[in-house]
Amino acid sequence: MTVPRIAVVSGAARGIGAGVAKRLAADGFAVAVVDLDEPACKPVVEEIEATGGRALGVGADVSDDQSVQATVNRIAEELGTPTVLVNNAGILRDNLLFKMSAGDWDAVMNVHLRGSFLMSRAVQGYMTKAGWGRIVNLSSTSALGNRGQANYAAAKAGLQGFTKTLAIELGKFGVTANAIAPGFIETEMTKATAERIGVPFEEFKNTAAAQIPVARTGTPEDIAHAVSFFVSEGAGFVSGQVLYVAGGPKT
Ligand code: NAP
Repeated sequence: MTVPRIAVVSGAARGIGAGVAKRLAADGFAVAVVDLDEPACKPVVEEIEATGGRALGVGADVSDDQSVQATVNRIAEELGTPTVLVNNAGILRDNLLFKMSAGDWDAVMNVHLRGSFLMSRAVQGYMTKAGWGRIVNLSSTSALGNRGQANYAAAKAGLQGFTKTLAIELGKFGVTANAIAPGFIETEMTKATAERIGVPFEEFKNTAAAQIPVARTGTPEDIAHAVSFFVSEGAGFVSGQVLYVAGGPKT
């Protein structure tokens, strides 16, 4: 049986998600570019199509059950059976614990944890039926603890436990689940953090790079390369792993 090569990438209108969507298209996957705002997905879809690939932009809130169900059904109808899922959509609501609102805690949990759960639950039926699937969750080095990120660190650590459990439950159906924990990656998210603390982005990047063994900050392509490995046919014996992609060791 030939497995359909259809990938779903959440939060793919920009940043790491856009880099992953373009890389998977180059690897031969048709790609569902999922993000909150459907028109915002268009440039990524057009870029993939311009290079001869197939893509579909879909507006969806990954933290909303109905939105997720409708999105996955639409992808299956318009693009084909989804066999790869990259749970990448994410938000930051940083603050020190004593200033963090319950709303900021919930918002981060909802997008990262609930969103990855809803998307994975909606897609796994297609994967198990196909007898093949790959799930990749975006964790973070912040899972190891990071000042001002109690909500985000908890969500990203939670995603590691979620990943290992998916690996255990879905392995016998030919589905692997792995997590990538990026360090500093140049995107709108890190730009927003620099702005929030009032440091020019170049200075923020240089300060970060000085602490990174490979002496540079990361790019969406660095993460896309790791995703490409995890979703490849040859990575079928690699499951439940957390790969730190951070320019140096992390424990
Ligand atoms: P980004 O540039 O902020 O992109 C995230 C995308 O997710 C945005 O397009 C955003 O849409 C979308 N999104 C947010 N909430 C969503 C929802 N409920 N449903 C669907 N889409 C939603 O972030 P990034 O830096 O590329 O990060 C991507 C992932 O990597 C995140 O999970 C992040 O936590 C993780 N990560 C990033 C870094 C880093 O250094 N950049 C490091 C470690 C881990 P809107 O623009 O409309 O909000």
